[in-house]
Amino acid sequence: MRDPRHDILFEPLQIGPVTAKNRFYQVPHCTGMGWRRPKALAAMRGVKAEGGWGVVNTEYCSVHPTSDNEAFPNAALWDDDDVRANAAMVDAVHAHGALAGVELWLAGGMVTNLSTRLPPMGLRNRPQTDYGEVTQGQSRKIDKSDIRDLRRWHREAAVRAVEAGFDIVYVYATHGYLLSEFLDPDTNTRTDEYGGNLENRVRLIRELIEETHEAVAGRAAVATRFTVDLNDPESYDAFGLLANLPDLWDLTVGNYAIEMGHSRFVKEGALLSDVARAKEMTTKPVVAVGRFTSPDTMAQVIRSGAQDMIGAARPSIADPFIPNKINEGRSEDIRECIGCNICYASDSLHVPIRCTQNPTMGEEWRLGWHPEHIPADPNPASVLVVGSGPSGLEAARVLGMRGHRVMLAEATRDLGGRVTREARLPGLSEWARVRDWRVGQIKNLENVDVFRESRMEAADVLDLGVDHVVIATGARWTTDGIGRHCCQGFGDADQATLLSAEAVLSGDEMPQGHIVIYDDDHYYLGPVIALALVQQGNTVTLVTPQGRACSFGGYTQEQAQTIVALIDAGVTICTNQMVKSVEPGEAILACVFTGRETRLSCDAVLPLTRRVPVTDLFDAIQAHPNAQSIQSVTRIGDAEAPSIIAAAVYAGYRAAMDLGKSIDLVARYGKREHPKLD
Ligand code: ADP
Ligand code: SF4
Repeated sequence: MRDPRHDILFEPLQIGPVTAKNRFYQVPHCTGMGWRRPKALAAMRGVKAEGGWGVVNTEYCSVHPTSDNEAFPNAALWDDDDVRANAAMVDAVHAHGALAGVELWLAGGMVTNLSTRLPPMGLRNRPQTDYGEVTQGQSRKIDKSDIRDLRRWHREAAVRAVEAGFDIVYVYATHGYLLSEFLDPDTNTRTDEYGGNLENRVRLIRELIEETHEAVAGRAAVATRFTVDLNDPESYDAFGLLANLPDLWDLTVGNYAIEMGHSRFVKEGALLSDVARAKEMTTKPVVAVGRFTSPDTMAQVIRSGAQDMIGAARPSIADPFIPNKINEGRSEDIRECIGCNICYASDSLHVPIRCTQNPTMGEEWRLGWHPEHIPADPNPASVLVVGSGPSGLEAARVLGMRGHRVMLAEATRDLGGRVTREARLPGLSEWARVRDWRVGQIKNLENVDVFRESRMEAADVLDLGVDHVVIATGARWTTDGIGRHCCQGFGDADQATLLSAEAVLSGDEMPQGHIVIYDDDHYYLGPVIALALVQQGNTVTLVTPQGRACSFGGYTQEQAQTIVALIDAGVTICTNQMVKSVEPGEAILACVFTGRETRLSCDAVLPLTRRVPVTDLFDAIQAHPNAQSIQSVTRIGDAEAPSIIAAAVYAGYRAAMDLGKSIDLVARYGKREHPKLD
């Protein structure tokens, strides 16, 4: 039964001509699917609506070929084919009584139009910024007739949006795209009625809001996504000029690293003060994100009047069923987002969305997976899962849900494997949610027994006489130096100077002094270990073969803040260098371009170059004379191929769904979309 304190979250809300059934609002968010994968999109958004979200939006939706962000997968409403494709998503959302919204998008000079090859249309002759310094080419400075065209294209797309059945149509005025360019006095240097004073700089947004109202003609609400930021007082003046024009405000702040903040740096509700100030200036409903996962916080936010709706991208990805769970009084079942931004990274890598916490995200259509409904296996069996890291916990949970008799054996006292060890490091405490949610769910399953301090040997496994064995024994960091930038490794390294990352992760006693981290991993772990070592009183140098530290963090929106944290902590960052060998008290560095060597004296060298799977148990079972008595032995997660936590969770889910089956991978992954050929 619902907790009455959360009732306020289920009050309907009028948004212009439409009514949202509750206060849960899935804001527009990227999916890595875009116009190329309409069926996958429809299925995924449909699951959000099924999970109780009152409003479900698309990602940014191009109105015209001059707004093209490929290879980033954006949605599109250029023509009738696109109307049909978007209607599939709308239908899937409507099927569950939710409203469907579309974020119409005018790109501006920030994009590259790599696919259409048309000149991008911006306010200045300026190199494009969306791919950083990677692409070449500049935008075309738009003139008055271009503005007329842009308005027309936006209006026509709004008409198509209504044809597709959308209930909410956006004017999208943030994130550096065209309308932000108009607002910003640095980019908007026009001297006509669209430039100069603030009233002129908001003019196009005003016109688009009015014209969108006209285009949708009362059949849909008009929302505006807009930036208000306490660090930028003028943003409130701009907001004030438009305050009551749209039917709904979707507000955010100027810094994307706060809006999309990684949990290492940004916690729940980070936008509240910025948004609350704007909310006082309008009579229209306001929605904003804040990685809200706590129902109490959500209810408090609405009760306080700071916002009218709870906006969510990531929490709705990690758990599409948050609203229903709160409604049913099952808050403890909420699978909380950990703020790792792997979901965002997939879009940046131009592949369909995935989520660390929710392995079904992005697989709703292709594999038919569902975040809540896990089909019972018609042939329940006995299964031993060895290892309780993210892959083992997920496998045990899903196998249990499928009705198997499951034993989960863990060598140590602690469950959670790598997430437990990493969650102790600075900023990574939310990693523990991966473990805690699964342990909590497993506790409710009578057919899953957990055995701690139970290191399994091959003979133990065979003695159990189970039908299936899933090996989730993880991986270990090596000190051999083999990695991305070096196939041969360090060779004859001084073992006394080498320090294993495993020692830091296990909290073992460590040498003190100057520690060199050789980071050929390029993600969070090197910087986070550096910060931990500094906290313990060490001097740290982080050596990376890349031009910048934490390069994969560029995909997860944590690179810049990571580098700032390292600089502030006094970590020396040494770029474009690899550690070639390790001698007593010295790291021998080599420039990745010239090969020229330098010597760096130190007390220890900690390499983060590769992990090797722990397969001794798997190998021993395979070699055991009675191995045939077990129907299947599968290794999963890091024990199969070390990767990110999301991959381990996915592997656990997949292993449980595929238990004992021989899968035709071509048939499975050949299920692809060819939208224009259908
Ligand atoms: P993954 O990321 O693939 O889930 P982890 O490294 O996080 O892998 O977890 C592996 C877990 O397996 C660790 O908790 C480790 O203690 C456990 N483990 C490794 N070998 C054995 C074994 N022989 N018996 C039981 N547990 C084991
Ligand atoms: Fe949250 Fe990470 Fe999932 Fe994104 S990938 S929704 S940040 S848990």
